[in-house]
Amino acid sequence: MKIIMLGPPGAGKGTQAQLLVEKFGLPQISTGDLLRGALADGTDLGNKAKGYMNSGQLVPDDLIISLIQERISRPDCEGGYILDGFPRTIEQAEAMEATDKIDVVLNIVVDTDVLMGRLMGRRTCRGCNAVFNITGRPPKVEGVCDLCGGELYQREDDNEETVTKRLDTYNDLTAPLIGFYRGKGILKDVKTGKEIPETFGNVLIALGH
Ligand code: ADP
Ligand code: ZN
Repeated sequence: MKIIMLGPPGAGKGTQAQLLVEKFGLPQISTGDLLRGALADGTDLGNKAKGYMNSGQLVPDDLIISLIQERISRPDCEGGYILDGFPRTIEQAEAMEATDKIDVVLNIVVDTDVLMGRLMGRRTCRGCNAVFNITGRPPKVEGVCDLCGGELYQREDDNEETVTKRLDTYNDLTAPLIGFYRGKGILKDVKTGKEIPETFGNVLIALGH
């Protein structure tokens, strides 16, 4: 199964993608995680991406498209994958069409007024990239990942100014993908529930499970 997770920053795409990984054993491909990895490693890609990421803008399409094409050509993607954070522009979606056939696009629908609070409270694991939230989904021990014991940190781009810019970027450049994929008949809307498992229930229904 080849799945795209679509939705604004803070919708919980990554969290739901991680649950799908556990259930179906498919690899999760998060462009945000790949870029943050490149940044931490100080690679050429990381250096090019840094300024865009820290100001809430999208990294140029050509960089992202080649990153994804390389990643999905690896053997672990043969049986399917979950794309989390890609595509984010019509140009990226068109490149994806030319690369591989996607089965379903899960559009995570969420009230915009909750997004800001979620993004500001988000904490990410340095070890395994698991996502927590100091109010919604706190770790058992403050600052420590429940899954791997790694250190939790606040992303550099989860500050008010950058978050506002990322939400605008989503509305301008990414939201048009909803119509794009609806037109292809593969879009499924997923309502977010109050709790993570409730949303995951809706994800499974959308996938026909
Ligand atoms: P979120 O969905 O919470 O905004 P991500 O971790 O998916 O965060 O992405 C963080 C940043 O990485 C984005 O703001 C953007 O600068 C860059 N990025 C990630 N995916 C893409 C993409 N597909 N195209 C362009 N830039 C991207
Ligand atoms: Zn962890």
